[in-house]
Amino acid sequence: MREQITQLKTSIDGTIILPEDDNYNEARSIYNAMIDIKPAIIVKCKDVVDVVDTVNFARKNKIEVSIRSGGHNGAGLALIDDGLVIDLSDMKGLNIDPTTKIAIIEPGNTLSEVDAATYEHGLALPSGIIGTTGMGGITLGGGIGYLSRKAGLTIDNLLECKVVLANGDLVTANKDTNADLFWALRGGGGNFGIVVSFKFELIEVKDVYAGPMFWPIEMAEEAMKFYDSITKNASNDLYGFFAFLIVPPAEPFPEHLWNKNVCGVVWNYTGPREKAKEVFKPIREFGPPIMDFVGDIPMKNLNGMFDALYPPGLQWYWRAHYIKELSEDAIKTNIDYGSKVPSMHSTTHFYPIDGRVHAKGSDDTAWANREARWSQVIVGVDPDPANADKVTNWCKNYFDALKPYAMGGAYVNFMMNEGQDRIKASYKDNYDRLVKVKTKYDPTNFFHVNQNIKPGSE
Ligand SMILES: Cc1cc2nc3c(=O)[nH]c(=O)nc-3n(C[C@H](O)[C@H](O)[C@H](O)COP(=O)(O)OP(=O)(O)OC[C@H]3O[C@@H](n4cnc5c(N)ncnc54)[C@H](O)[C@@H]3O)c2cc1C
Repeated sequence: MREQITQLKTSIDGTIILPEDDNYNEARSIYNAMIDIKPAIIVKCKDVVDVVDTVNFARKNKIEVSIRSGGHNGAGLALIDDGLVIDLSDMKGLNIDPTTKIAIIEPGNTLSEVDAATYEHGLALPSGIIGTTGMGGITLGGGIGYLSRKAGLTIDNLLECKVVLANGDLVTANKDTNADLFWALRGGGGNFGIVVSFKFELIEVKDVYAGPMFWPIEMAEEAMKFYDSITKNASNDLYGFFAFLIVPPAEPFPEHLWNKNVCGVVWNYTGPREKAKEVFKPIREFGPPIMDFVGDIPMKNLNGMFDALYPPGLQWYWRAHYIKELSEDAIKTNIDYGSKVPSMHSTTHFYPIDGRVHAKGSDDTAWANREARWSQVIVGVDPDPANADKVTNWCKNYFDALKPYAMGGAYVNFMMNEGQDRIKASYKDNYDRLVKVKTKYDPTNFFHVNQNIKPGSE
């Protein structure tokens, strides 16, 4: 094998990192510090030729592979024990045409890099809320964030992908060419090939009226009901995710609230600025809130607002549900667990996936949950490995308690390794069609380190 690795080293522009190398531990570390996976080879690709060479190398030598872009996957699906990691994090090409609003983005870009570049042109790509997340994984799983109600998921703004298939071919997938593949890539994750570039249509958003607002935990029931009713009939310009949390003991939070359990909403209003105060009048009158940080802010800063609170290297365990409605019992159960978050970083968020997300049908893309109103994520997080069990158990118990009120399945980007039934439940009626596409483009399941859709032969 040494000989073959030496050969690959000479043929690619990127770098190969092996267990004996000084930078091996750094190269195998990912966002979630709970994950400790030891690959045999990490290939940091520089360009698409590197990706093709590495795929051919792994296939010929029968080495299992994983794909890494931003390394944010909670379950650690960027890495594989004893296998080869195809690491795309150095592929950072990013080109924006402000006239057509078209962006060509390579998968190694993080969301903060994309946000900074699009903001320069008064444009934005609807995507996630933490800047260190990688474009590759978030896009292929769907892409939920502050602009979802206004402009849909990240995949709803995707026009085309360039993909390296398991056989080493580089193909284009869009609505006319390899349309079946393009359909599957929009929600089907890394099952079908390695996307080496994404083409998006950006939207016009620059500065927004946004930020967090908190209420005392004792008001949680009223606050959830108020939030539910005000967002139900709001225009798609108003977005807000509800959360249970502990106030971080740091500026800019007022000291008398530090370490207190609260509930709150992080809002994002993208409508006409002169209407913002009017839109927020009833919201501000409710309660009133004990903390109100809603104001003018650049979209790119809203997206990075919680980056410092959630740096890479924390212990993470999360679970997720799709939620259609908040019944009395669901609210009570959420308050039971939400008012007892086990650590300052742990939380639950209700991410809205209504508005423009519902403009597409459940079988228009592989992402099958267009009738849900929220993707709820329950996150157990702590810096100290000694607290890993504590945050994990809270998360699992909360998740189990909510099952009667959930729709089944979950957003694949918020899933751990939860088994094949969960994956099928998440893709629902789209699963069989995904199997057909998988069988056509990756019949041997070469790309299997993901929320795996098994080809027909397996
Ligand atoms: C702190 C945090 C905040 C998050 N916030 C959001 C959010 O606001 N909205 C949201 O929707 N999600 C969010 N997520 C979830 C996120 O979408 C997933 O973790 C996603 O997998 C991250 O993408 P990545 O490229 O960083 O992942 P990686 O760990 O690098 O990759 C994960 C998987 O994605 C696939 N993949 C990645 N790149 C490619 C590629 N180029 N071609 C083919 N397959 C590929 C592979 O199957 C790989 O196993 C968040 C995650 C974290 C940890």
